Amino acid sequence: MNIQERKVGVIGCGFVGSSSAFALMQSGLFSEIVLNDVDRERAEGEALDISHGLPFAKPMKIYAGDYDDLMDCSIIVITAGAGQKPGETRLDLVKKNVGIFKSIIPEIAKRKYEGILLIVANPVDILTYVSVKLSGFPENRVFGSGTVLDTARLKYLLGEHLSIDNRSVHAFIIGEHGDSEIAAWSSANVSGIPLNDFCELRGHLEHDASMKRIAEDVKNSAYEIIAKKKATYYGIAMSVRRICEAIIRDEKSILPVSSMQHGEYGISDVSLSVPAIVGRQGVERVVPIDLNEEEKEALQASADTLKKVIEDAFN
Ligand code: NAD
Repeated sequence: MNIQERKVGVIGCGFVGSSSAFALMQSGLFSEIVLNDVDRERAEGEALDISHGLPFAKPMKIYAGDYDDLMDCSIIVITAGAGQKPGETRLDLVKKNVGIFKSIIPEIAKRKYEGILLIVANPVDILTYVSVKLSGFPENRVFGSGTVLDTARLKYLLGEHLSIDNRSVHAFIIGEHGDSEIAAWSSANVSGIPLNDFCELRGHLEHDASMKRIAEDVKNSAYEIIAKKKATYYGIAMSVRRICEAIIRDEKSILPVSSMQHGEYGISDVSLSVPAIVGRQGVERVVPIDLNEEEKEALQASADTLKKVIEDAFN
């Protein structure tokens, strides 16, 4: 089936799927959004609600649809799955959500879909790996939102800490989207100025304590939000919008999406986040940023954690 560049699908219309659809509606990137959920009425209700904002945005169609309606989408965003309950880790979700993906991905694969699958449901790295394996699609076309959200949280917190526009902060969270993630401090900078030098410029001298606190705050963001309002969805919705923008506009932006690894960082046969070039073809290639020894070891440990989960989930 011919892919319609300006048509996007969202599978799973809970908090994350509906917020992502709302952000995509406002982005002006698409002229058609198809919403799919096992709860058809939920998808229909969200489609109506979001459509009622259209007189304040750009003309487009938003409607509930089935798998056949999704097959000419340039991107299908998959947010279907249970969310974390208070106190639950993302990895606790694995069995439940792998089961859900086993019902979704084969439906897409058997229809020989030719667009991009953007995986958002958690644990996103495991579900990206599962989606690559179950679909048999080329790996560049199947990837996860990964640590794009965590990286946004890091930039936001550093912007607050330094009282600077967070878009001028260049720093990445890499590895698992979850407890073993790593702040790649050794390459962090503010408009080319090494982070520690910039901190001193702004009167902050306690580098180790500040970095530790900020990295912990990033890691605990989801737990804190879930404890307070039961789910997180606006930050991830904007991350989905940003990734879709990079794809549709063929921006070749460098984003820390979760993609299958083939030894670039000494890591293989697992999907996790490292900076990668994202454009119309999906993930073009991963980008080797400099990591110090401690960061390399932590990335390896993060990969080992994910591999163990994959082994447990499949054996
Ligand atoms: P939710 O419970 O509000 O929504 C999940 C939706 O999926 C429900 O509407 C449900 O009916 C639907 N669904 C279940 N099985 C389906 C299937 N087979 N086909 C179609 N739809 C199906 O949950 P939520 O808060 O929207 O979270 C969704 C997922 O996104 C969770 O796994 C959550 O952990 C994850 N999440 C990821 C990030 C990230 O950074 N990657 C951030 C926040 C949340």
